[in-house]
Amino acid sequence: MTTLADKLDSLTMAGHLFEEMDERMVRCTACAHRCKIKPGRRGICQVRFNQDGVLRVPFGYVAALNLDPVEKKPFAHLLPGSDALTFGMLGCDFHCDFCQNWLTSQTLRDPRAAIPPDYIRQIAPEEVVRIAQRGSAGVVVSSYNEPLITSEWAVAIFERAKQAGLRTAYVSNGNATPQVLDYLRPHLDAYKIDLKSMRDRSYRQMGGVLKNVLDTIRRAYDLGLWVEVVTLVIPDFNDSPEELWEAARFLVSVSPSIPWHVTAFHPDYKHDGQATTPAILQQAADVGQEAGLQHIYAGNLPGRVGSLEDTHCPQCRAALIRRRGYTIIDYRLTADGKCPQCGAVIPGVWTDRPETVQLGGWGLPRQVL
Ligand code: SF4
Repeated sequence: MTTLADKLDSLTMAGHLFEEMDERMVRCTACAHRCKIKPGRRGICQVRFNQDGVLRVPFGYVAALNLDPVEKKPFAHLLPGSDALTFGMLGCDFHCDFCQNWLTSQTLRDPRAAIPPDYIRQIAPEEVVRIAQRGSAGVVVSSYNEPLITSEWAVAIFERAKQAGLRTAYVSNGNATPQVLDYLRPHLDAYKIDLKSMRDRSYRQMGGVLKNVLDTIRRAYDLGLWVEVVTLVIPDFNDSPEELWEAARFLVSVSPSIPWHVTAFHPDYKHDGQATTPAILQQAADVGQEAGLQHIYAGNLPGRVGSLEDTHCPQCRAALIRRRGYTIIDYRLTADGKCPQCGAVIPGVWTDRPETVQLGGWGLPRQVL
């Protein structure tokens, strides 16, 4: 019987993101773990492995393919109101105990994430792009698992997506290397990065290092990617005013115009405890505002966070985009991305045909494969 691991190993190609070492060892450069891998062994993510001195990497399948509202990623300044064809593979380089995608991210690492082999579907990059075009998507996104560890597959899709005039984006934990960011840059428009904590101790528990994530945020911004940052605010984990202040101050030091999404946690995977309330998100947003961030959004509690779902002009405070959950209720930006009231340029990636923005849509994800 074919196991999931057998099937995944058959859906691979020779990777681009690795360095050859002595004795057919390789060093993977797709994420900041930089695993040194002996022949016949796997990296920490379990999905990249050394076969006779060549790093084999995932290629040619999806474990999920959905048309999601781009607001669900969440992106607030990337073609609001458009659909994002979102694909995911399997595996992750972190093991956060509050993961909200753990069935796909922890496959091969946690026996409870028992996904059957027929869950994954073989597909060509051209077909993914055709599905995006048929669904009138504006953006193609790699998400659900950690995209950095499957970057060769993402680039194969993104090259074709950009030829078709689509935007491309990553939804990632930010555990990147300079090599993977340089590899992605010609093919990537936008990068959503999780900033899960400002405590290195907390990152070590998840299997990461705080500095690597901070470096990725700064580097992605300096490379000219459109960057939005998300902090899942978890009571008694990262919701102290001091920690939120440090996160906001760091983002301001990169750019006050980076949108910061403070989103509500609900108990999942191995993390029990209290769900995040609207009041906690409001406090986090107040901290961000005081620190000097211009665009702060509260997520996962639609209709319960006042105007914190909306986009405001940082200069005159006019409401430019009103939202409820993933639905756009009103869109007032001009075709050249300015506030119609005071003329301020609003940073982001905007449509030059604002009349086409869909208002009052369902705002629901649709499975397409
Ligand atoms: S992607 Fe990261 S975890 Fe996976 S093999 Fe490469 S360096 Fe290791």
